[in-house]
Amino acid sequence: MSQSTEFAAMPDEHGFFGSYGGQFVPPHLKQVMDDINAAYDEIRRRADFQQELAGLFADYVGRPSPVFHARRLSDQLGGAQIHLKREDLNHTGAHKINHCLGEALLAKFMGKRRVIAETGAGQHGVALATACALVGIPCEIHMGQVDIEKEHPNVIKMKILGCKLVAVTRGAATLKEAVDSAFEEYLKDPEGTLYAIGSVVGPHPFPKMVRDFQSIVGREAREQFLARHGRLPDYVSACVGGGSNAIGMFTAFLPDADVSLVGVEPAGEGLDRPGRHSATLTKGRPGQLHGMACYVLEDGQGNPAAVHSIASGLDYPGVGPQHSYLKEIGRVVYDVASDAETLDAFMTLSRVEGIIPALESAHAVAWAMRTAPSLRADQHILVNLSGRGDKDADYVAQKLGL
Ligand SMILES: *Cc1c(COP(=O)(O)O)cnc(C)c1O
Repeated sequence: MSQSTEFAAMPDEHGFFGSYGGQFVPPHLKQVMDDINAAYDEIRRRADFQQELAGLFADYVGRPSPVFHARRLSDQLGGAQIHLKREDLNHTGAHKINHCLGEALLAKFMGKRRVIAETGAGQHGVALATACALVGIPCEIHMGQVDIEKEHPNVIKMKILGCKLVAVTRGAATLKEAVDSAFEEYLKDPEGTLYAIGSVVGPHPFPKMVRDFQSIVGREAREQFLARHGRLPDYVSACVGGGSNAIGMFTAFLPDADVSLVGVEPAGEGLDRPGRHSATLTKGRPGQLHGMACYVLEDGQGNPAAVHSIASGLDYPGVGPQHSYLKEIGRVVYDVASDAETLDAFMTLSRVEGIIPALESAHAVAWAMRTAPSLRADQHILVNLSGRGDKDADYVAQKLGL
């Protein structure tokens, strides 16, 4: 099999990318996941589904998002040309709307009465509440009480958008408890509800579904870059939390052996400081988490480790199974950017190009800024700018004493 057909066939029928992925869930849940997979495989082939999704991508999200040549930044660094895929310009300001619209529309086509999810910092919650308002399907979001108090703007937005926000007060009252709570509620009515996962993680078919909905990013970018430059970029980079914006960008480029793909994980306050980074593929090992086999950061006792990143969207102790596989076969290289480098990239992009990036996306920008000077001026780095940084402005201003 050639490499391109091999990638197109992934995952296999059991949801595996090599030895990663699968469905590590109790038997009754496996049936529920198999039903979602069968419905998805049928619905995604339907012309009316694809037409409605394409129409919403164009007229609602504002796709295609442009690819911008960051000339001043490139000149200042004195090396490769840096280009930005502007997912920050999407409605709601990030790539998450791509898969949230896909999931909300899928729920409608499946005849579900409700969509349910958890949210940590609230980014997934806002994108999903937006998509559900548009599609006209009730939405229930579980969020830890501690996060609710920290993330006021997103909490307000979810309420305005009409979703039912459930405050989770048990335990540490953050993301993990919100996942548990949302999942318990989901299991009360899996026939009437669709659980909308926020990245390319969880049991099969979610890593596949979310990837498919995000792959529009790379398809557009590849075509835009070819049309403009008559060639493909030398490097394509994206930040990696669960891995949805990265896999969305990489998928179209996987068969292009001459294009180097680089996923950028958060080194936080240092890779040698357990609990103070979130570099799962760099420092973790193969394991299991949230119903999938994937790289996992563990503490000494075999539990998921505490994680940290300056970007709350990247602090996850697991990572998508396809990324775990792509690391193993060497098709994608995974590197890191620290909190300090990320802050520097955030400020530099703001002041040199007038673009305030999300702190998540600034990790990929930091990698490009570090790499560009060692390359030639006729080489090109394409960065997925996954979201805008309005949400991070107060935090950065406080951190830097602005
Ligand atoms: C949530 C988020 C991420 C991280 O999620 P992935 O699934 O790894 O893409 C990255 N960038 C932005 C702007 C986000 O909101």
